[in-house]
Amino acid sequence: MERVISGISASSGIGIGPAFSLADLTGSARTAGDADSEAKALSSAVKKAALEIAELAAAQEGEAAEILGFQVAMLEDDALAEEAFALIETGAAADQAWRTAMAVEIDGYQSSDDDYFRARAADLSDIRDRVLAALFGVESDRPLPQGSIIVADDLKPSQFLSADWTGGGAIVLGQGSPSSHVAMLARARSVPMVVGIGEAWHSLSGPLVVDGSTGLVTVKPSEATILEAKAKSGDKARQRQEAEQHILEPAVTKDGTLIKVMVNVAALSDLEGLPVDAVDGVGLTRTEFLVEQALHDEDAQAADYTALLQWAGQKPVTIRTFDAGGDKPVKGYTVDGESNPFLGLRGIRLSLMHKDVFKIQLRAILRASMQGNAKIMLPMVTSPADLENARELLHACRDELISEGVLHALPQFGIMVEVPAVALSPNMFDAAFYSIGSNDLTQYATAAGRDNAASAKWADVAHPGVLAMIAHVARHGVATGKEVSLCGDAGGDPAVIGKLLHAGIRAVSVAPGLVAMAKAAIRAVDLSVREEAA
Ligand code: PEP
Ligand code: MG
Repeated sequence: MERVISGISASSGIGIGPAFSLADLTGSARTAGDADSEAKALSSAVKKAALEIAELAAAQEGEAAEILGFQVAMLEDDALAEEAFALIETGAAADQAWRTAMAVEIDGYQSSDDDYFRARAADLSDIRDRVLAALFGVESDRPLPQGSIIVADDLKPSQFLSADWTGGGAIVLGQGSPSSHVAMLARARSVPMVVGIGEAWHSLSGPLVVDGSTGLVTVKPSEATILEAKAKSGDKARQRQEAEQHILEPAVTKDGTLIKVMVNVAALSDLEGLPVDAVDGVGLTRTEFLVEQALHDEDAQAADYTALLQWAGQKPVTIRTFDAGGDKPVKGYTVDGESNPFLGLRGIRLSLMHKDVFKIQLRAILRASMQGNAKIMLPMVTSPADLENARELLHACRDELISEGVLHALPQFGIMVEVPAVALSPNMFDAAFYSIGSNDLTQYATAAGRDNAASAKWADVAHPGVLAMIAHVARHGVATGKEVSLCGDAGGDPAVIGKLLHAGIRAVSVAPGLVAMAKAAIRAVDLSVREEAA
């Protein structure tokens, strides 16, 4: 019998396909056999995990290969599982013994004073999970099958990025939130996504219909439901096609106001199929995704930034420095175990703590800036000192390049406005430009976490309080002649574009898949009708 489960819409579109469940092992438990069989089970799970990781490592290069190599070495060291085998002797089941022993290890690494060892704690968690997967007979590296509906408690951005979405598919999550980074990636690739369905995700199997716009998931859909979903999907595709036909035309409101539409980029492949003439440049490059594997590799980063600048010709390319932290953990870089990562060490705060890594990025941007019109943008700026300390480092990098005789150019230096205190005091910052991160600004202003499905309904960018902050920043831009753009997801949401423009926004940066639809929504706005003004 058909049944409908209601969740929260995170990325629009219709997905029709079989459920593919990503197992969650946190609640799984083995019944203990005799000590001998438990020891054998653990030892073969450890061997299997080591083999799998070694195979993965062989296919990687640079830092990724090093990280995996470290994991193999840990697993091959008998000392790691010694405590678990001792617990098995006392009657514990293999999984319980392994979890307990690894918790002690992970804790030890996490509480180390040394950055390096703290960073290795994340590797140990990976190792723990992979051995557990082997113990429970779950393939931890099953490729996500094309065209399936991925069903899970939550999904990491890296898991999303490792899947091939070209053959369709959709995502349904027990937890999650529409403003999480994985939702942002889903919107960029036009992958339908529903979040926050709660415990019901465990029971999803067989064919599903996912409506990313309404947040409804139909289990065991009838023929009629499937036909209706196909028709709706067809309507959406037609609307999109119609908008795509005008993608190269400027975005001018009914009253004749020209709005800049730029694009947000997380990977070079995002730009495939997007004509550069469709946009006014790149308004946000999420480098924590673009160069995540090249944190310590200046040449590799410079090559990626150069590729972006070359794609854009002379149009501006805004390169945001690493915005790791929050729901974007980066192994060896972000801090594990923060009680509230969104209020902790994120973005520029972390960059200024890891000056060695930050300098590599700044040098790479300075070098690539020879190839076009680059702008540097700092994420999560809170106090003017964040901007000035970063500027000092930028100038130090420029001086180094001069003394090394390396060609470079100094880009404009601007900030994101994501922290309410900054939105209310933009005049305190000596920035060349401002870009409003409405995703974070909304979460902080409405006290509704991006990672929390239960509070998603409060995270409303159209809240008059949020719009008032946006309007305040826009007025500062007009008064100073500095550009104020908005690069959060609201800029690509036809339901709120009108309100943003009425609040004074004249430049947006949106996901590649939303450029055409955003332009169509802008063309429907009439700014001479004042009632929507913030
Ligand atoms: C934002 O916060 O609106 C933003 C664009 O940054 P991110 O979504 O990457 O945090
Ligand atoms: Mg942000």
